[in-house]
Amino acid sequence: MSAFRSKVLVVGMDGLRFDRLLALDAPVLAGLRSTGAYGTSRLPYGEAGTPRTESPGEVVPKTPEPGDGGRVIRSRTDSGPGWSSIATGAWPDKHGVVDNGFGSPQFQKFPDFLTRAKRARPGLTTSAFFSWAALAEHGAFGPAIDHRFVLDGYAVGWATADKQVAEAAERHLAEDDPDAIFVYLGDTDEVAHDLGPHCPEYAAALQTQDAYLGRLLDTIRARPSYREERWTVLVTTDHGHVDEGGHGGTSDEERTVFVIAARLGADLGGRPLDGPRLVDVGPTALAALGVPIDPDWDLDGAPLDL
Ligand SMILES: [Zn+2]
Repeated sequence: MSAFRSKVLVVGMDGLRFDRLLALDAPVLAGLRSTGAYGTSRLPYGEAGTPRTESPGEVVPKTPEPGDGGRVIRSRTDSGPGWSSIATGAWPDKHGVVDNGFGSPQFQKFPDFLTRAKRARPGLTTSAFFSWAALAEHGAFGPAIDHRFVLDGYAVGWATADKQVAEAAERHLAEDDPDAIFVYLGDTDEVAHDLGPHCPEYAAALQTQDAYLGRLLDTIRARPSYREERWTVLVTTDHGHVDEGGHGGTSDEERTVFVIAARLGADLGGRPLDGPRLVDVGPTALAALGVPIDPDWDLDGAPLDL
């Protein structure tokens, strides 16, 4: 039996385009890529040409896969569907969030991975820090999570909210003992909506979020019990952006998402992951914690091979 205590940090950066991430200077994320494993995939949903937060109309088939029965998923490439898929390990036709209206969420049947971890192993401590209050209001990250730190980014301002979220998560990692923690940073999305993902302001927002991530990792490494812990770190996004800024539709720029996975203190070699999907994030976190995935959960994702 391993003497190590397995722990997981999942960091979500809203509306972060992977090609921009590669092009821009983000040293902490570059370090995680070089010592971790990473890849991109395209969201299996998206609807062209409709305004933000409107309900879905067109059906966009996902890339057919053996055994999927020709399943189609009606959803916009918006934050609600993206974060709900990351949280639950299921796609929008299952968790029910197809746009930012959260019309008929199914989070009782498809709870977030932190809630699942707690149910499977009540001794675990689970935590979530985020500034998009809708994720708490509608239960994408549910009330059974031990520590929920929730700000309203619209009221506080997204950059300020990110700072406060990062500082609160940093304190929590230093002073408490979370086993699984989700941290959301949102200014990249806000800036891209205003100015697009090719401006210096987007680069600066990414740089700032990268620095927050670095502080979280430094705080983990400084934990007195760090040598007895095995930390898996996952970084992902919910959707991309068109060049002019905005999302919801079917373009590759909007549908391309990424997952970066790393084990602190271990070298995974910077190897490619084969099309990691948003729905794989939760199962990967659960697997890292030693929580087996129950087929009865009917998840779409599976643990990534790290
Ligand atoms: Zn978003």
